[in-house]
Amino acid sequence: MRGVPTRPIPPIRIGWGYDIHRLEPTPPRGSGRPFLLGGVEIEHDRGPIGQTDADTLLHAITDALLGAMGMPNMGTLFQKEDHHAQDSRIYLDEACRRMRDAGWEIGNLDATIILERPRIAAHKGEICRSVAKCLRVPQGRVNVKSKTHEGLDAIGKGRGVEVQVCVLLHYVGLSATRRVGRHKGGYL
Ligand SMILES: [Zn+2]
Repeated sequence: MRGVPTRPIPPIRIGWGYDIHRLEPTPPRGSGRPFLLGGVEIEHDRGPIGQTDADTLLHAITDALLGAMGMPNMGTLFQKEDHHAQDSRIYLDEACRRMRDAGWEIGNLDATIILERPRIAAHKGEICRSVAKCLRVPQGRVNVKSKTHEGLDAIGKGRGVEVQVCVLLHYVGLSATRRVGRHKGGYL
């Protein structure tokens, strides 16, 4: 088409993920679930509400990976495909499988957790290690940081947790083994 640049684009893609969950008192005072962030349980008198284990960080990461591949978000995609797992790692694993099947690998991932209480500075190392393990990447490719909401709005009153994630993918192609595997397995 005239006027459209024909230079090849770099083999990278970015994805953006966002998630929010309401926090309610844990039993017996309420129905808040154990407070998971990146697969790590955080001690708190409130926990998230959700249909899955409500791991806000893993949900935002899953959406970032799917978004980078131009796919619908986690809720839309897996509901359509009739997935009903409680463990959020199952959805993240599936997003990773699709990413690697298409020849992409994670360059780096940067996450911000917005949470008034509890302070999670002491858990950041463990959360990074857990997320890197879930994604099967070196820990240096994962960065997790946190902020409060300065007492503003529901998040600032401690009634929710919010996560924003940015991920960079780079194209590594399909290895010979995986090409054979895909062919034999009939993926193509
Ligand atoms: Zn969620």
